[in-house]
Amino acid sequence: MENKKNIKDYNLDELKKEFENLGEKPYRAEQVFKWIFEANVTSFDEMTNISFKLREKLKQNYIICIYKIIKKQESKDGTKKYLFNIGDDNAIETVLMEYKYGKSLCVSSQIGCKMGCKFCASTGIPFVRNLTSGEIVEQILAVQREEKIKISNVVLMGIGEPLDNYNNVLNAIKIMNNQKGLNIGARHISLSTSGLVPKIYDLANEKLQCTLSISLHATTDEKRSSMMPINNKYNIEELLKACKYYIETTGKRISFEYALAKEENDNEEDAKRLVKLLKGMLCHVNLIPINKIENGKYDKSSNENIIKFRDYLNDHGIVATIRRELGPDIEAACGQLRKKEVKE
Ligand code: SAH
Repeated sequence: MENKKNIKDYNLDELKKEFENLGEKPYRAEQVFKWIFEANVTSFDEMTNISFKLREKLKQNYIICIYKIIKKQESKDGTKKYLFNIGDDNAIETVLMEYKYGKSLCVSSQIGCKMGCKFCASTGIPFVRNLTSGEIVEQILAVQREEKIKISNVVLMGIGEPLDNYNNVLNAIKIMNNQKGLNIGARHISLSTSGLVPKIYDLANEKLQCTLSISLHATTDEKRSSMMPINNKYNIEELLKACKYYIETTGKRISFEYALAKEENDNEEDAKRLVKLLKGMLCHVNLIPINKIENGKYDKSSNENIIKFRDYLNDHGIVATIRRELGPDIEAACGQLRKKEVKE
């Protein structure tokens, strides 16, 4: 990727500092920021209110990271999955979902993942590296260019553990939020974590308005550790303590994700324990019919059981809904994303 910096990696304040170092006025940085994130241009030459001299200077110092689509798949339900060539030997996946309220994009935060959750398709792919903030945001820009649409919601639920790439993810959120660019309000951004407890405290202290989703998936440490190795490091008690801190500090409701696997975590005892664990918390439970992955040992719970589980929670004071499955036919549903090599 040469030695030039990706101009999309900078939030507006940082870009102003960069421009200062180049001997340029801060308002020029703002103009360029708008070209990049609002007009979504792909070359410096399109920045018509920027002098030729400055454009040349920018070209010498920066690149504009632009993804090329290797493959685009469309589901019967309208969900679209993109495999992007991100410029080196790596590829990432991004999913576009259409809802009544707008267009939501599920973005990846890392190439591969270190968490090793037993039910997730990202497991078994070696971790390669973190995505930079510009690489995270380019997923939105690339889809907006391709589809000629405006993304209204972003979920950080693609490949990777967002809190394991904390600084870049936070900066990406800052860039998304800026009204002079993508203008996606924090309330329209969700971040999902497998439970990196210290980072949940850090995130709470940022006092962002984005929604935090916690991948809980089990009600005992024994079961959760067998599904999610991260639980050996931070157990359910520590995790829920951090969640309570998050709620107190931000005033925001937390969303708990619970993927129902047949005869693993889907019986009435689990529902009872879940009620006990979450009682009194400002939260919501998102029940996900687990998606069976290749060679995976977890099977989907029956529809009847999923409804029973939801009703038990609702009858006992815990708000629970069943997540609609989108894009299962193109392997774009929860947990099905899998990084493929560009060479494939
Ligand atoms: N690393 C983050 C975000 C990526 S996964 C996290 O763990 O939260 C996004 C969501 O999909 C998580 O709740 C994850 O647990 C869930 N998920 C992963 N594999 C799944 C599968 N096979 N079926 C259903 N949900 C799955």
